[in-house]
Amino acid sequence: MNHRTTNRLRLLIVPLLAITMAGCSSWVQRIVTYSIENFGEPILPADVRVISPILPYTGLAVLWGGHATVMIQIEDKVFMTDPAFTKTVGMLLHRLVAPGIDPAALAKVDYTLISHLHFDHFSFGSLEMLPKNGKLLIPPGAAAYTPEFGFVETIELQTWESIEESGVRITAVPVQHFSGRYGVDIPWHPEKGYTGWVIEYKGKTVFVAGDTGYHPEYFKEIGRRFSVDVAVVPIGPAGMGSANSLGGRIHVSPRGAVQIFEDVGAKIMIPMHHRTLSYGSTADPMIPQNLLQAVIDEKGYQDRIHILAIGERRVLMEEPSGQTSGTPQ
Ligand SMILES: [Zn+2]
Ligand SMILES: [Zn+2]
Repeated sequence: MNHRTTNRLRLLIVPLLAITMAGCSSWVQRIVTYSIENFGEPILPADVRVISPILPYTGLAVLWGGHATVMIQIEDKVFMTDPAFTKTVGMLLHRLVAPGIDPAALAKVDYTLISHLHFDHFSFGSLEMLPKNGKLLIPPGAAAYTPEFGFVETIELQTWESIEESGVRITAVPVQHFSGRYGVDIPWHPEKGYTGWVIEYKGKTVFVAGDTGYHPEYFKEIGRRFSVDVAVVPIGPAGMGSANSLGGRIHVSPRGAVQIFEDVGAKIMIPMHHRTLSYGSTADPMIPQNLLQAVIDEKGYQDRIHILAIGERRVLMEEPSGQTSGTPQ
């Protein structure tokens, strides 16, 4: 049996194992039960649906598709993080709100960036929906889990490793999360398997944190190495941590997200990883956003932290840098 077949078998066996173990594993049980109870329940429409997601002319624009799916446009280049467009994610996680980006409306995506292997971030069905005229970047140790989707190239980067081409530099940067794909397969997956990304193009720098807990060194180091304009940072799921904590080891709280924003020294923060999916919790999905708003008010960050609606596009820099036209090609 070759390596790829073995991995395919693992992909099949692990969810079955997860379901079998539901009796002794409370989070699996919660998600399975909740998903069955909510099977067929209507999904709320996205707050906004932009007809043409790619702008003909812009400096820097960000469009939140819900959860960790963020489209970042820097002038003529389009970057997509953790695309999730399917109704359920990984067969189990129920979507509360429809995707705010229609992949069929995208003429191109230059770079698709995957933060880690968890099925709410590395959705095979969603990757199939994207145009294949760009490259797929995956975290350390992810190649063995990655089917051939037909992208121009699939590149696995190690921490602090970069690709550099046509003026674009993308670097894998350290974050703190956990490995595996289904939660129960960590022993089979000793490699790290998760990353953040720093995108640099035309003198603009965007840091995407992926899924992370707070770490006292990693984000400060990213801040020392890069001059970050925009930080895209997770603030969910709902119901974890108190208002004053920085969150747990694998997920930051909204206050922890703001600490990351300060550590990397970004000018602007865009929150994500909230409101969109149910993790089997009955907590109000608006909790992270409300807690973040309280931190914004407390610190006076109204002009620097932008809470987007699902499907909303925000132009953060109007003008392209040079005199060249920003027309995507
Ligand atoms: Zn995760
Ligand atoms: Zn996640």
